[in-house]
Amino acid sequence: MTEALAHEWDWWFEPWKGLIICGSCEGFMHFHSPCLICGQDYRNTPNQKITIDGQVVEVAASFRGAIGYSDYTLLRLMYQEWQRPLAMEDCFPGMPIEKRPSLRLMIVILFWTLFESLMDRFFEAATYHLPKPISEDILNRYSSIGSRFDRLYKILFSTTMASDLRQLGYGDLMTHLTEIQKKRNAFIHGEPEAINDDLVRVTLERLPEVQRAWIGLYNLRCTRPTVKG
Ligand SMILES: [Zn+2]
Repeated sequence: MTEALAHEWDWWFEPWKGLIICGSCEGFMHFHSPCLICGQDYRNTPNQKITIDGQVVEVAASFRGAIGYSDYTLLRLMYQEWQRPLAMEDCFPGMPIEKRPSLRLMIVILFWTLFESLMDRFFEAATYHLPKPISEDILNRYSSIGSRFDRLYKILFSTTMASDLRQLGYGDLMTHLTEIQKKRNAFIHGEPEAINDDLVRVTLERLPEVQRAWIGLYNLRCTRPTVKG
């Protein structure tokens, strides 16, 4: 079922569709309803007047989209990789059968790069309120994704990422992510067979859920306080 849906770009992009960044609290929100975090409402934002070549032109207000360019690129690359025909059945000649990875292994490699990029954005936003030398030092000190999950998350929020994910309704997602991380690391360290067809399938199946969970986590931990009148 997932494999059929994944032929459409909408399936990949669906968690981001219609999401903008709230100009008030920096959380993710849908344009067609008030911000669920701070209540800001952009539905009646008037058109903006801008000057082009000396002419005043009225244009509809525009808003920042939620997904970053790098993450969008990675998602597009995953989509492209999924569309790609398996042109070379014997892509790994000379390797023992039991050491060969899935022919779709790039899906997992790209996924992990995407996830690390999303988590970089998360931790940068989560430390934004700190004085810059402190946030830079803390992010350098905990620069690996493993140390950020194990230590930095607890230091910043006095809880674990697994606990936050459970609270958001993604009970076993941390186990899933840890498993991908473990197998991706095994791939890098001499066990290419760790990225097999089963891992590719489950990575694909849970991709929308991972993205929705990250958006939820960001809204839970990275929005900025607003002054309410
Ligand atoms: Zn807001």
